[in-house]
Amino acid sequence: MKKIEEYVRSIPDFPEPGIIFRDITSVLQDAEGLQLAINSMQEFLKDVDVDVIAGTESRGFIFGVPIAYNLHKPFVPIRKKGKLPCETVSASYDLEYGSATIEMHKDSIKPGQKVAIVDDLIATGGTIEAAIKLVEELGGEVVKVIFLMELAGLHGRERLKGYDVESVICYE
Ligand code: 5GP
Repeated sequence: MKKIEEYVRSIPDFPEPGIIFRDITSVLQDAEGLQLAINSMQEFLKDVDVDVIAGTESRGFIFGVPIAYNLHKPFVPIRKKGKLPCETVSASYDLEYGSATIEMHKDSIKPGQKVAIVDDLIATGGTIEAAIKLVEELGGEVVKVIFLMELAGLHGRERLKGYDVESVICYE
């Protein structure tokens, strides 16, 4: 049986020279790869008391929804600015060039709910740090943060100190 990391395709110099892009389409387009990815990420919630799964646009949706569905929990999308139609809270974070803003519907999480946040990959941790801020602003408690992949060299995990962070594949 193939290991999950064997399904990830690594593309050198994408989207810029010097970057190795970890491509998940090769995981998704293989039935075994998809099963393995979802099951491995979901395993981190085995003994966790969680009310809501939240995922960041857009690859966090791909992995977050099946986990929520399997656990019979609701799924809450954390979207890029301007996409959500009702009242939102928003948080901005720095990118290499410029900044980005993500939003959540104000009614998507009730105060006191236990939330697990899902994304495909942690690099610098900026995206998830902003996502955590939003969940907490709505009164949610972040009980787990789950990634398929972690780029350990960028030290994103250190930025999330105090949170329970898990990744299936760790690249040095
Ligand atoms: P961070 O905010 O941690 O620096 O960046 C993480 C975000 O960038 C994630 O939402 C992730 O989807 C995206 N990202 C950055 N690099 C890669 C990569 O090599 N592969 C994939 N699949 N996503 C990446």
